[in-house]
Amino acid sequence: MSLDNRPQYSGGCQCGAVRFRVEGALGEASVCHCRMCQKASGNFYLPLVSVREAKLTWTRGEPKRFRSSSHAYRGFCADCGTPLTYEAPDGVALTIGAFDDPTGIAPVIQWGTEAKLPYVDAIPGLPGEDTMADIAEAPFLADLVSYQHPDHDTEEWPPAARPGRKP
Ligand SMILES: [Zn+2]
Ligand SMILES: [Zn+2]
Repeated sequence: MSLDNRPQYSGGCQCGAVRFRVEGALGEASVCHCRMCQKASGNFYLPLVSVREAKLTWTRGEPKRFRSSSHAYRGFCADCGTPLTYEAPDGVALTIGAFDDPTGIAPVIQWGTEAKLPYVDAIPGLPGEDTMADIAEAPFLADLVSYQHPDHDTEEWPPAARPGRKP
């Protein structure tokens, strides 16, 4: 919460070149299974939350936008590729996973179900392991250092003396 008691949220892309702040109540949270959202996210479906009624500010950088149809743009970080926005004539929605704390932003509806991939509903029933359960097969996990932006705003980014992108 901010000083005036309006809810406030922050988030951004994985590399930290693009950061946002949302002031005010979030709108409807959803997942979209449509083929366009699959392609735009490179994923099975796209989780989005509307910020149409709130105040969205780009606090560092701004997304590059791809016009994905005659009516919509898809915003993403031009440096690291993280999908960030869906922008239509009726307002902007942000990708839920890009928020610093997505845990409270629960989807309440599914869209585009005509394109839902046939195995998506079976995923919760698959065997599950935590990340470190794979340590024998992937020993590099033991001393892994994340180069992703942390889940909070930073004064300066990236830190000095950090290796750059893979050439
Ligand atoms: Zn980025
Ligand atoms: Zn869609």
